[in-house]
Amino acid sequence: MSARRGRFFALLTAALWLGCRAAPGSPERNYDITPGDMRARIFFLASDRLRGRDTPSQGLEITASYIQSEFRRSRLEPAPGGYTQRYRLVVGQMGAGWSLILQRGARRAALRHRSDFWGLPWAAGTVEGRLRFAGTAPPDQMVDSGEPAVWVAYLRPDVMPRQWLSAAAAAGAVGLILVAPAELGPHLREWGWDAEVVYEMGDVETSLPGALVSEDAMVAALERLGFEAQPAGGLPLHGEIDARAQISADLQVEVLSAPNVLGILPGRDEELREEYVLLSAHMDGLGVGMQVDGDSIYNGADDNASGTAAILEMAEAAAALDRRPRRSLAFLAVSGEEKGLLGSTAFVTRPPIPLERIIANINIDMIGRNSEDTIAVLGRPYSTLGSMVDSLAVAHPELGMTVVGDLWPADGFFFRSDQFSFARKGIPALFFFNGVHEDYHRPSDEAGKIKFRKAARIARLVFELALAIANADDPPAWDPQARARIVAGDG
Ligand SMILES: [Zn+2]
Repeated sequence: MSARRGRFFALLTAALWLGCRAAPGSPERNYDITPGDMRARIFFLASDRLRGRDTPSQGLEITASYIQSEFRRSRLEPAPGGYTQRYRLVVGQMGAGWSLILQRGARRAALRHRSDFWGLPWAAGTVEGRLRFAGTAPPDQMVDSGEPAVWVAYLRPDVMPRQWLSAAAAAGAVGLILVAPAELGPHLREWGWDAEVVYEMGDVETSLPGALVSEDAMVAALERLGFEAQPAGGLPLHGEIDARAQISADLQVEVLSAPNVLGILPGRDEELREEYVLLSAHMDGLGVGMQVDGDSIYNGADDNASGTAAILEMAEAAAALDRRPRRSLAFLAVSGEEKGLLGSTAFVTRPPIPLERIIANINIDMIGRNSEDTIAVLGRPYSTLGSMVDSLAVAHPELGMTVVGDLWPADGFFFRSDQFSFARKGIPALFFFNGVHEDYHRPSDEAGKIKFRKAARIARLVFELALAIANADDPPAWDPQARARIVAGDG
């Protein structure tokens, strides 16, 4: 009862505070984000001539130059070095000669490629070493064992595979086996581990041959070597065991590059303008792929021309404000999301603006489909950004958007788009997402099916949120428990 009252007064206060600071129609709110503008941008981004905006591709390059020229036209400022940041993209062609063999004395267990294990696109060659288990501990607890070791670590949703790679390399490993826990099994295919061609953000200094193994296959192999399955989890969780592993990685590596595009609206407050509110969306799509009903171009209208259009519309609206917000707004279009959050990972690895000055990230990925007047905002319980967006939705009844939380907690969507790259670096983040649908990741995700009115209203809500964050006295704060769970141990 009292909690509800408290919440009621909080909402009332927020509504009054927002109301007196900036009534709708005041010069500060006189911006232009319309369904028609969203429509024009989404039709262009999702047109067949951009061929699904694959990373890397000509269509993606055209998309990036379009966004850059729109930022320039709006007179946003570039980051030092320009609007576009390029990152190295390692493209690995998977050969047929992969093998993974575990051995203990005379006993031997060979795992089968693409059913028991999947090759990782890190380094080619054959390595051998004693098996060492990192178990479920975080990567920074891998320590050098002083002899050639193949490390075994559990894949966790909050640790990127390449973090394990860097940690294993630093611990003197010769190879790395990542174990996919049973519950992640269904996601392996959609993460693209079974693809012929695999992509990695090419910033890992030292690389090792690596394999991703399903938990079932790993347990079965260890049993064949005479180890007894443990009651919990099935695997020895820690330390060295009396067995060896040999990984043969059959891989041809090509190094290319891909773009991210960033535009900045400097804040008006001399001190606070050093802090940024980062608005992001991925501009890439799945490109050209398997034909479905005579169509092979995966236009990605909802995923994520809709979010990219919102970034462009907000950037234009922000640049036209009579009175700029106190803090700076940073508008970011990343690539490589569909290849495993590569562009946002590159952004946090070599940040063009200081990460510690980014006080919030609002990421938009798919806002043009499903329910007309509801939008799921994921990450609400993780920081004070959650109550901010709730209050804003209430304070702007003209938008007619109801904000709901994560409707699909079992899918782990918060960990599957770019906000995760920022959140794990300690930046409080929210994720605007309308959920998947029958055209998701199919050639039929086309512009004609988008609800432009909906997409425009969500873009307006995100814009209001960005201004509220940028104008607030205090930056958003994490919920301590959520922070402990999501932010990477090493920062
Ligand atoms: Zn997406």
